[in-house]
Amino acid sequence: MIAKVRGATILGVEGFLIDIEVDISRGLPGFEIVGLPDVAVRESRQRVRAAMNNSGFGFPLQRLTVNLAPADLRKSGPAFDLAIALGIMAACGTLEADLLEGVLVLGELSLDGSVRGVAGVLPMLLAAAEAGVPRALVPADNEEEAALVDQIEVGIVRHLVDAAAMLEGRSKFITPRPRDFDLETAVNSDLSEVRGQLTAKRALEIAAAGRHSLLLMGPPGCGKTLLARCLPGILPPLSFAEALEVAQIYSVAQGGRTPLRLSRSRPFRSPHHSSTVAGLIGGGANPEPGEITLAHHGVLFLDEVGEFRRTVLDVLRQPLEDGRVSLVRHGYSITYPARCQLILAANPCPCGFLGSSVKDCLCTGGELASYRRRLSGPLLDRIDLQVWMDGLQAHEFYSSAEPSAVVRERVMKAWEYLKAVDQGEAAIEVSKGAQGVLARAVEKFKLSARAVTRIQRVARTIAVLEGSREIDAHHLAEALTYRLSL
Ligand SMILES: [Zn+2]
Repeated sequence: MIAKVRGATILGVEGFLIDIEVDISRGLPGFEIVGLPDVAVRESRQRVRAAMNNSGFGFPLQRLTVNLAPADLRKSGPAFDLAIALGIMAACGTLEADLLEGVLVLGELSLDGSVRGVAGVLPMLLAAAEAGVPRALVPADNEEEAALVDQIEVGIVRHLVDAAAMLEGRSKFITPRPRDFDLETAVNSDLSEVRGQLTAKRALEIAAAGRHSLLLMGPPGCGKTLLARCLPGILPPLSFAEALEVAQIYSVAQGGRTPLRLSRSRPFRSPHHSSTVAGLIGGGANPEPGEITLAHHGVLFLDEVGEFRRTVLDVLRQPLEDGRVSLVRHGYSITYPARCQLILAANPCPCGFLGSSVKDCLCTGGELASYRRRLSGPLLDRIDLQVWMDGLQAHEFYSSAEPSAVVRERVMKAWEYLKAVDQGEAAIEVSKGAQGVLARAVEKFKLSARAVTRIQRVARTIAVLEGSREIDAHHLAEALTYRLSL
């Protein structure tokens, strides 16, 4: 007797449906799982056997073969437990086999038969919805994620016994109410809280408008972190499709232990400088997305960038350019989305007060040289805007500041126009004056071709923010000011 049941797995941040076949035959009692299972899948044999015995269903003393198909797809995680248990019950006649038709089954089993939540329920349900699977059994722990997929009827289960009852019609599948999509964007910090720092705020607005990378350089306590935290609040809100993409990433991350996120505000991630390569770009034995992917469609903020290890910073460069991370594992590869905006903050020197008007720098020449070596490198070479922040002047304590909402209006207008330019529906000319300014700068500062491209792009954003359809000399001149000679 062969029974079939639907399960699903995750590759990268995408869900894939898996067909699980259970065959029971005469012969020496045994229990085998085939079809490229990893350690977690093999361990599920022990859990399935104990859960069935402890739930009163009993485990058949026959020859059991479980096949996971397609065989060439890597399968990981404990999400197959419940499906395998129900498949075995169907194969040995404890459960009617046709009750499993059209049902996606997700859940890890405890030894006592209770059902535990699994990572990646949201992408797995979306894959099922796309394939037209009408129903799913989902662990109670993952109920919130199920509510985001309104095309599927869901049976919320806490125990193997519930799952059987649900399939036999003794308790009901529900269509979860799609949760109201929060139109408000929760803001980390508001620009109205930032006193003074007009140049840095201007640079932040330009960075937001053109999705440029930005380095904030200044002594400790000058407000670099506060300013960086203001960035999500001046970026346009996420579309529903983007928010759902982000929610799928959080569904998969950290084995599903990350709280579900469905919000229109853009992610803001600020990993510690002790972060590892795997922590930043993803990886591990059971690969999981890293910080750069958790910042997808949002902001990756590296505070005290001088304290990060060079090797760690260097691996960020390629993913930031490509907008995705590609990891190669034994025999398979994984891609994670990573389209994020990079913001860096750094002290100008180890003591923090080089060039400060507040305090004198106490660093030795050797310390300064080695700090600069750490700051320069392939990643920092590619920062579009660099800006100096000093301590507050006395008169700035009482200055009023524009709230983020006002700045965001301007940023959203700029996004719209730049999108039209990218799609060829609008154009931006470069004036003769601007060309002259650039030519002189190239000669004077010995700018590389890459630096010239970056300056032109920043100048373009400045022009668009002003509502100009032409890059003028003063746009280019301003763009040239956002460069520190490190
Ligand atoms: Zn110093």
